[in-house]
Amino acid sequence: MALVVMKFGGSSVADAEKIRFVANKICAKKKEGNKLVVVVSAPGDTTDDLLAMAQNVSSNPPAREMDVLLSTGEMISIALLSMAVEVLGEKVISLTGAQAGIAADTNHLNAKVKKINPKKIKNLLAKNHIVIVAGFQAINANGDIATLGRGGSDLTAVALAAALKADFCEIYSDVEGIFTTDPRIVKEASKINCLSYDEMLEMACSGAQVLQSRSVEVAKKFGVIINARGTFSQDTGTIVASEEIIKKFNGGRKMEAMLISGVTFDKNQVKFTIIDLPDMPGVASKIFINLAKINVNVDMIIQSAAIDKKNDISFTVSKSDMKKTLIELDKIAAELKTVSVICDEHVAKVSIVGVGMRTNPGIAAQMFDILAKNNINIEMISTSDIKVSCIIDEVDAMKAVQVLHKGFKLSKK
Ligand code: ASP
Ligand code: MG
Repeated sequence: MALVVMKFGGSSVADAEKIRFVANKICAKKKEGNKLVVVVSAPGDTTDDLLAMAQNVSSNPPAREMDVLLSTGEMISIALLSMAVEVLGEKVISLTGAQAGIAADTNHLNAKVKKINPKKIKNLLAKNHIVIVAGFQAINANGDIATLGRGGSDLTAVALAAALKADFCEIYSDVEGIFTTDPRIVKEASKINCLSYDEMLEMACSGAQVLQSRSVEVAKKFGVIINARGTFSQDTGTIVASEEIIKKFNGGRKMEAMLISGVTFDKNQVKFTIIDLPDMPGVASKIFINLAKINVNVDMIIQSAAIDKKNDISFTVSKSDMKKTLIELDKIAAELKTVSVICDEHVAKVSIVGVGMRTNPGIAAQMFDILAKNNINIEMISTSDIKVSCIIDEVDAMKAVQVLHKGFKLSKK
């Protein structure tokens, strides 16, 4: 008998028919003899609709009230899903985040999970109940509702799996798992059977949108085995786990044999270049400390070699931070007088990810070669031990993904 946390995304509970389908799936899993905690997201586009409703009554709604509003989406799902499971004859109960013992900090709309008290869930499981928990929500130290940031139901599921020491955390959505790249761009993209936490984190941060990256961080920290799979599919999906566990999995992969696991892209990037900065200590720190103070997350940074005691620094930020960054850099430019700032919105980041890079030299070179042969210019490069990313012109992004996917032989056989 296993303890399994199952999580269903919003598209899996978007209407009555889908809710009944999911209820059947849950009951089948229960009949196999498992203890089940089920986490659900708000139905379909409910969260977006709620955000829009708030904008209709206030241009600047208080974060506390936004959390009260947004948490209602998941409440609809837990109630309806519990009713649908009850019809099928299983003992079932729905719980809000607070009832499930999920405590978060007081940062409304993007709260962090601080602690989980799983006592109530454990008691219910012992009484043979299927426990259905609202994703994305928690209670803070003031006794107020707090939500965990967009996509936060994944985090609820993984955090509960960690607190309950569940055997698996199954994350169901409308895709069959993690793919070598976005199948909408490359038809031949194939599903990956197994992926290490680090690869998944690099892929999640580089644009693959299947799992919320915070949830993968928590899974890594507590060793929660994630199985990302399709609600309406028979496929076994993708296992995300530690490298040691992946090596043991049947149908898994030999870690070293695979050079690259996936190709990702991110069009949500803006490149800033500051020209003619004085070449002296404290300049870079001034720029990046000021950006950190206004909560701008800087991704790639390049400083060129100094000529005539002058430097150029380029870096990227996400599009949503563009305005803030520009205002801040203009202030710095005014102070430093000689410098000028260039902002380029038409860039994209393409990345290749894979633990095979650690043991196989020349992979970055191979990437640059593939891009060069296809006449794609590289504007910036950054690497980690399992990832190489290039900033290129936005118009080349799709082509870059396609040629890299082909060049590294990731297509279906
Ligand atoms: N309903 C929330 C959202 O759409 C949480 C989630 O789906 O995971 O972001
Ligand atoms: Mg959602």
